[in-house]
Amino acid sequence: MRSSKHYQVLIVGGGAAGITVAASLRRRATQPLDIAIIEPAEEHYYQPAFTLVGAGVYPAARTQRKVGSLIPPGVGWIRASAATFDPVNNSITLSCGDTVSYDYLIVCPGVRLDWDKITGLAATLGRNGVCSNYSPSCMTYTWDCIQALKSGSRVVFTQPPLPFKCPGAPQKIAYLTADYLRRRGILQDCDLNFYIHAPVIFSVPYFARELVNVAARYGIKVHYQHNLVAVDGSSKSATFEAVGGEHKGQRFVIPFDMLHVCPPQSPPDEIKTSPLANAAGWVEVNQNSMQHVRYPNVFALGDVCSTTNSKTAAAVRKQAPVVVRNVLRLIAGESIEADYDGYASCPLTTAYGKVILAEFIYGGKVTPSLPLNPSRESRLGWWIKVVGLPLMYWHYMLKGYEWFPGHNKAFIGDIAESS
Ligand SMILES: Cc1cc2nc3c(=O)[nH]c(=O)nc-3n(C[C@H](O)[C@H](O)[C@H](O)COP(=O)(O)OP(=O)(O)OC[C@H]3O[C@@H](n4cnc5c(N)ncnc54)[C@H](O)[C@@H]3O)c2cc1C
Repeated sequence: MRSSKHYQVLIVGGGAAGITVAASLRRRATQPLDIAIIEPAEEHYYQPAFTLVGAGVYPAARTQRKVGSLIPPGVGWIRASAATFDPVNNSITLSCGDTVSYDYLIVCPGVRLDWDKITGLAATLGRNGVCSNYSPSCMTYTWDCIQALKSGSRVVFTQPPLPFKCPGAPQKIAYLTADYLRRRGILQDCDLNFYIHAPVIFSVPYFARELVNVAARYGIKVHYQHNLVAVDGSSKSATFEAVGGEHKGQRFVIPFDMLHVCPPQSPPDEIKTSPLANAAGWVEVNQNSMQHVRYPNVFALGDVCSTTNSKTAAAVRKQAPVVVRNVLRLIAGESIEADYDGYASCPLTTAYGKVILAEFIYGGKVTPSLPLNPSRESRLGWWIKVVGLPLMYWHYMLKGYEWFPGHNKAFIGDIAESS
């Protein structure tokens, strides 16, 4: 027997975005709402700290909590995956075959990590010096690999084609590894290489300039327009293909002692094949209101949506109140607002104890929250990353509070002109 249930608000995905919007809806709604979250996983992760775990400065256990402990009181938890979407009939089929219908749908199942797109990677991940902070099950192995480095070691970091979540993460671990080797006095004896698919190190030019200097300071050789295509764990070698420049189309086999991989990423299959998707497979929403462009009772936020902001939890923090206010406005028969400006933040760990707190909005405009030079490596930024943001995530964001420092839009003009 297949069952069918109806909710006023149905949320797909109980990650950073799903829990935040559910909690915020509960807090803001003046009438009790019938809300449920569809989420198959038992564990929820604070992913922004994965870099710190890989660098040996944050316990892995502190990134993880039970989903059940985070679902807000009064919100239903459907322990299944959303399998197919029928937005014309306001209904979703679950992995178990049941259907669920809704008045309003909020879609936030994140991105898929495409480990299998790189030949040989899945078979050797977590062994043979092949590590990734993108995998909760092997991020502590990154730290094992870093500690095992010695004079003469060859270290390779990779960055896939955009979009992928946290566009700073592949280079953050490169700088922390280099700083670790520097503190041990063997940095100059090691060979560090960073292979990037894009022709630039970071998509916001203001910060890219600083980051090029940081890489140079450590002697990290940056190879633009190179894509990882294969990994051979037994011979400890990685194959890259040049995707631009004079060697375009050529393949290079690079030996390594440690290889840190950021996997290519894509929309989940069930989204890609649904009527909600745009041509690239992402949920097609208005970039300011987060409302679906074809189905007005559908919203999306977080990593799965088509907006061009950096895919970060920081973006979710700013998108969630817009989605929540708009759903409540539609319920009240009011018109919606278009308040999301593309804000994202990436605390770039340039050394142990130092962070460049990159904050920006659509168009790569720099919008710092603090009255400090945003390009400067700071100890305060490190404290914010290691202590402040995790506290904010667990105790404010996931509880539906929206008390956060606003980003400084008045700064935009100054920085954009000087950059
Ligand atoms: C190594 C690393 C470093 C990062 N660093 C930072 C940082 O410094 N700052 C920052 O702001 N962000 C950072 N991020 C990015 C940040 O964690 C993500 O952008 C954020 O978690 C996105 O939230 P989300 O809810 O869209 O996706 P997620 O938090 O990934 O949650 C998606 C949820 O949807 C569920 N789901 C998937 N498919 C389905 C389905 N079919 N049906 C129902 N549920 C489904 C999943 O189980 C999951 O629980 C980092 C991420 C990584 C991996």
